[in-house]
Amino acid sequence: MSALLDIRELSRHYPVRNSPWPWGKSVSLRAVDGVSLRLPAGKTLGLVGESGCGKSTTARMVLGLLPASGGQVLFEGQPVPSVRGPRWRALRQRMQMVYQNPLDALDRRLRVQDQVAEPLTIFRQGSMAERNERARAMMASVGLTPHLMTRYPHELSGGQRQRVVLARALILGPSLLVCDEPVSALDMSIQAQVINLLQDIQERRQVAYLFISHDLKVVRQVSHEVAVMYLGRIVEQGAAEDLFRRPAHPYTQALVSAVPSPWRSAGLPRIVLQGDPPRPGALSAGCAFHSRCAQAMPSCRVVRPELQPIAPGRTAACHLLARA
Ligand code: SF4
Repeated sequence: MSALLDIRELSRHYPVRNSPWPWGKSVSLRAVDGVSLRLPAGKTLGLVGESGCGKSTTARMVLGLLPASGGQVLFEGQPVPSVRGPRWRALRQRMQMVYQNPLDALDRRLRVQDQVAEPLTIFRQGSMAERNERARAMMASVGLTPHLMTRYPHELSGGQRQRVVLARALILGPSLLVCDEPVSALDMSIQAQVINLLQDIQERRQVAYLFISHDLKVVRQVSHEVAVMYLGRIVEQGAAEDLFRRPAHPYTQALVSAVPSPWRSAGLPRIVLQGDPPRPGALSAGCAFHSRCAQAMPSCRVVRPELQPIAPGRTAACHLLARA
């Protein structure tokens, strides 16, 4: 299947000092390091991992909001420009972002209907009456009743605000939504409603989602494919159902084992990860996970495992799996 979004060897490195002193050596902090992902039209790719693993940095580079240090992002076959010019603006109509906290994403001084219509104004689409009509229709399609249209964001519930954010993101008819923890700030019952809405929107509009979350239960529910990220690199990828039932990489096994669920592989014991991830700037040559991996071997400290096929449709970066 051809990819709507094709991320190739994407990297983002920052120079940092390895000590607080001015004479400290400068090292490269690899926030994202050679990430390659493909997302077909109308599908959902879940991107999971602990906080600080590079998920959100990847999302911002995908949208051209942050320049990459290396690699390329192709959207509908076209490279996403790293400089914000007319071509970037045209592409942004087709790829939109949904943030974690809807209150931060909305302007508290504007009525919600005006905020939903605002992208149409920015891209000079239709007359004012047409823009308002489209905004009303879009708000209705995400389940917002007409009496809410003249309200301000602080007068709405968290779930209603996230529906407004979705209406605003969808008004230009994008083919990709980059959703960065879109339900993390919501109560459990509201989470379920917003997830159902996202699935319904995908069915009706064939929108693809790059769905970023640390919540594996949510990712399992919405994703067709899942990629697991650890310290800036993809360590495992595969079809969601298969990956959650049979996690292969020790890091994925630990993440999956922490989620009490009937779909988890029978007999997978709870694996408690010890310690925090090392600072990306302090990474040694071997596997970035070796200091926390219960199955680490001497070679793991010196040889970095590359992502490689381990089964049809599955890839992982682990020496154990390469030997199998
Ligand atoms: Fe663990 Fe070694 Fe595999 Fe890394 S390469 S996940 S340290 S077994």
